[in-house]
Amino acid sequence: MSAPARPESIAALDRLLEALRTRGVVTDEELAARQASTDSASPETGARMVARAWLDPEYRALLLRDGKAAAEAMGVSMAGAPPLGVLEDTPARHHLVVCTLCSCYPRAVLGYPPHWYKSFAYRARAVREPRAVLAEWGTALPDSVDVRVVDSTADYRWMVLPLRPAGTEGWSEDQLTSIVSRDALVGAALPQAPQGAVGG
Ligand code: FE
Repeated sequence: MSAPARPESIAALDRLLEALRTRGVVTDEELAARQASTDSASPETGARMVARAWLDPEYRALLLRDGKAAAEAMGVSMAGAPPLGVLEDTPARHHLVVCTLCSCYPRAVLGYPPHWYKSFAYRARAVREPRAVLAEWGTALPDSVDVRVVDSTADYRWMVLPLRPAGTEGWSEDQLTSIVSRDALVGAALPQAPQGAVGG
């Protein structure tokens, strides 16, 4: 597949948007709202959802039951977004999210995907040898932990609810949010235990 040069692709997008407007499929207001929510999306939203779930059992239950509703409860507009599933890590199971086809990613709550997420190497290797990929990125999981790879698609997006690290007892939502990295939200890393923590 040869990608069109950028100016041509932008011109094509303009023509598509104009056609959708003319046919009344979308309005300028809807486009503007969607643009604003995508532009303001960042992984901190997902990190805060995780932190809140660690602190609040009711929110955790909502997050696991209906990710979109949990995002909306944080003030995120999910209008028109596909369903958001949340994968609960346990001491016995770790989840890794991939889009094997392209780059489907829950942008409304995580912002833009990292460059590696879209790479062919990641999409292929995450499925075949997730443990090796994780180990190369510094997350060596013991054999006792089952690694489940989950495919994000155009119809269903996924994020991970990682385990809360030991040593974070008594932490505030802000403190907890700060240790949940973008990569941890798709299982490519683990939230970092604070320095000096025992275990973790
Ligand atoms: Fe995709």
